[in-house]
Amino acid sequence: MSDRADRFEWNGGHPALDLVNTLDERPSQASIERLATYPDLVQFAELAGLIDRRTARRLLRPDGRSGSQIVKRARKLREHLHDILAAANSGRRARQSDLSALSAAIKAAHAAQVLETSASPGLARRRWLPSPSADIPLHACALAIERLLVDEERKRIRNCLAFDCDVYYLDTSKGQRRQWCSMTGCGNREKQRRRRSGGRSLTRLNRLE
Ligand SMILES: [Zn+2]
Repeated sequence: MSDRADRFEWNGGHPALDLVNTLDERPSQASIERLATYPDLVQFAELAGLIDRRTARRLLRPDGRSGSQIVKRARKLREHLHDILAAANSGRRARQSDLSALSAAIKAAHAAQVLETSASPGLARRRWLPSPSADIPLHACALAIERLLVDEERKRIRNCLAFDCDVYYLDTSKGQRRQWCSMTGCGNREKQRRRRSGGRSLTRLNRLE
């Protein structure tokens, strides 16, 4: 788990958007679930930089607890965020039920952290309590979602303009004119499609801008 040669989609540029993108091929009938099991969730959280390797290792020790309910809650959290982003992308307001569900998860995540003294630099650091707790990767995802929705960076959230792609990403390009989740995937495909259709664009409107 030390590199990113894995099955997750890392074009989001933010852990919470990478989380949304763990349901791969989303607009199609044959979407691919990348968070199928609890170990998937732990691996995602580690690779996304949300939990450290030591914590991940401890969480993956067999202890008789399947974690299936926890990964199910993580998928629900992901879908609440997706619905909020999709609403914004369609020019609609987010549903209060989605925001309330995220608020409850974020509150629980904050309640699972305490401050403790830290070696220099800094005055204190956060620690999960109790640790290890199987909920930690779920809580870490909730806090990433909170950061995404309140930070200034939220203004750079985009939805890939390819008509058959629903990947969300942060546009950190200099001119903020990035249109595709990846140039090697959707970007090239769309360029070829335009050539075949005589320059006609089949892209969608991105209203998150
Ligand atoms: Zn795309």
